[in-house]
Amino acid sequence: MTQAEGFQRNAESVASHRCEVAEHRWVNDRYKYLRLRAPGPLARATRAGQFYQLKCPVSDDLQPFLLRPMSVYGMGPQPETLEFLYNVTGLGTLAISDLAVGDHMDIVGPLGNTFFLGPEFKRIMVVARGVGLATMAPLVQMAADRGIAVTAIMSARAPKDLMRDEFLRGAPADVHCVYDSDGSSDVDAVEALVRRQLEQHSHDAVYTCGSHRLLMLLQRVLADYPDVLGQVAMEQRMACGMGVCLSCVRLFDTAEGDKQFLRVCREGPVFSIRDVVGEVEFG
Ligand SMILES: Cc1cc2nc3c(=O)[nH]c(=O)nc-3n(C[C@H](O)[C@H](O)[C@H](O)COP(=O)(O)OP(=O)(O)OC[C@H]3O[C@@H](n4cnc5c(N)ncnc54)[C@H](O)[C@@H]3O)c2cc1C
Repeated sequence: MTQAEGFQRNAESVASHRCEVAEHRWVNDRYKYLRLRAPGPLARATRAGQFYQLKCPVSDDLQPFLLRPMSVYGMGPQPETLEFLYNVTGLGTLAISDLAVGDHMDIVGPLGNTFFLGPEFKRIMVVARGVGLATMAPLVQMAADRGIAVTAIMSARAPKDLMRDEFLRGAPADVHCVYDSDGSSDVDAVEALVRRQLEQHSHDAVYTCGSHRLLMLLQRVLADYPDVLGQVAMEQRMACGMGVCLSCVRLFDTAEGDKQFLRVCREGPVFSIRDVVGEVEFG
């Protein structure tokens, strides 16, 4: 299977759906969990890696203009349920954080492509940091449902920021936690850990989201493992989320050895780790 064959795209619906807030609570001092009652077959049509554009509520104090992209964190267990896990970081997410149970919210999606999990896969590795946990949580559930073993490398500022339970949601995994606070999340240390795991167990695929540094590290490592699929869900800032405004384009390598700009919202957000062209660092 080639990398290109690994990507799956669902039929997309750019219609807006009115949902009801069924649950909304803080998970820690920065992240909130949001459960929406979504109309009809929306949840069943949503796949791991896809995202929605959330319409932020407007108040006298907060008037966010654009919709905000959010990965789907879970679908179910009840039918007609969509879950999100989000970092309250700026104007839009602050406005969303004010929603009360029973309030309504308009969402657009599901948007974008999905992670690929081959039917023959026996073990995968997920390398997550920050909001990447929310994006990859459904992938971990999917692997657990199919009996695929998971090696999870979780990176956070400190143990209190890790959200291990929120990530695994009861799924079995060999978990390795690394932290900025004790230096174990340093690039060299994580690279050694990833290489050790790939040597110890045969992995079919490696997935990541949430850190450009981890992405570049995995790109380096995977150059030595040509048979291992590598996929990343990119979190580029975006406006329309539907491929029109081109604000989320990123540079990627092509199979022909050229470079091309692709829209993260439309051709992604899931891409081959090998194809990402690293961000230029200034200064
Ligand atoms: C496909 C996709 C899926 C995402 N999934 C999640 C998710 O599941 N949970 C979650 O918490 N966040 C997720 N994000 C990031 C989320 O969209 C932003 O944090 C949010 O739009 C910020 O809006 P704001 O108005 O609160 O903050 P702003 O005032 O717009 O920005 C506040 C801070 O957040 C940073 N930021 C803004 N947009 C992004 C972005 N797209 N990616 C990374 N940093 C950003 C800004 O640089 C700034 O530092 C996702 C982004 C994309 C593109």
